[in-house]
Amino acid sequence: MTTDANQQIVIAELPTNKLGTEHFSIQTTPIPQPGAGEVLCKTLYLSLDAANRAWMQGATYRSAITAGTVMSGGVLAEVVVSNTPEFSPGDLVEADGGWQQYFVANSKVLRKRIRRDPLSHLVSVLGVTGKTAYCGLLDIGQPQAGETVVVSAAAGATGNVVGQIAKLKGARVVGIAGGEEKCDWLQAELDFDATVDYRRDDFHRGLKEACPNGIDVYFDSVGGAVLEAVLFRMNMHGRVICCGAVSQYDTGSPEPGPRGVPGLIVTKRLSLRGFIVMDYYGGLAEQAEQDLNTWVQNGNIKVVEDIIEGLDAAPEALIGLLGGQNYGKRMIRVDPTAR
Ligand code: NAP
Repeated sequence: MTTDANQQIVIAELPTNKLGTEHFSIQTTPIPQPGAGEVLCKTLYLSLDAANRAWMQGATYRSAITAGTVMSGGVLAEVVVSNTPEFSPGDLVEADGGWQQYFVANSKVLRKRIRRDPLSHLVSVLGVTGKTAYCGLLDIGQPQAGETVVVSAAAGATGNVVGQIAKLKGARVVGIAGGEEKCDWLQAELDFDATVDYRRDDFHRGLKEACPNGIDVYFDSVGGAVLEAVLFRMNMHGRVICCGAVSQYDTGSPEPGPRGVPGLIVTKRLSLRGFIVMDYYGGLAEQAEQDLNTWVQNGNIKVVEDIIEGLDAAPEALIGLLGGQNYGKRMIRVDPTAR
């Protein structure tokens, strides 16, 4: 059942420094009609991602977001009308549908998803961030039992899954997160072996104490000063998984650095490797979904979700995510009936 109105959130103006609600506006337009080969989709959940802010800084692995257009964002959606045999009404799909209730897409940009209960798992642990955690950690990091694995943004969507998988592989897991409350939660709820609050003045000392045997694998989601501190604690032949740089996203003046590059990389024989999860689609990402689902069903991995109701809450919710409000995967339930 559709109404004839499509609520959309548009980029009113691109931020030059910190993101604010003034950079967004809400509008209502008619529901678009699909043409030949196209599909009309209804958004169920909108994924909020740290990368949403990075897309506003310019072209990355995708084109830059521009003012006056519907804000981009990954969604889980349901097919309403299909003008292509590949999709039928009721199919679940994943796409960059944007911050809107309905969208029309060419079938080529839609990825079909297997229905799971609850649906939100398709956005969290079985979504982009869960697969990112699995593929980056296991393909690049290759943690061995007994090694020390450090993960930053540890209480966030990607980080909490990285830490839990590393524990399953028998590693000693150290999380870096903002604030005592998050750090305590990681140890009490997710069984992290140790945590360090990067906002404290004594962060360097805390990191050293938390990693008495040095660091073998570092899953880096933040870059900047935290990456710099970790590089100095890495062991010989350590692996650094370069996943993101959230400390540099919500600013008009990203930091130079980190120091120690390339000197520490050379002397410690480190490998630093970047990746984008899409590199693994059609390969390891499918294995990731299967394994993560099994681990969730068996109770080996806890699913941590932060679901916020209603599309109009998205701007505040993204700003809050960049400020560290979220525990686990933050998403918007756009269709109030989606479960
Ligand atoms: P998230 O971790 O759920 O949320 C972002 C977290 O970053 C916040 O909760 C906050 O936690 C932390 N943060 C914010 N500012 C920070 C700063 N200055 N220094 C350190 N931490 C800061 O977000 P996510 O969507 O899962 O993304 C995490 C990272 O993974 C991002 O860098 C993103 O770009 C990357 N990513 C990469 C891929 C890929 O394919 N390579 C795919 C998905 C995500 P605190 O309270 O701890 O500060």
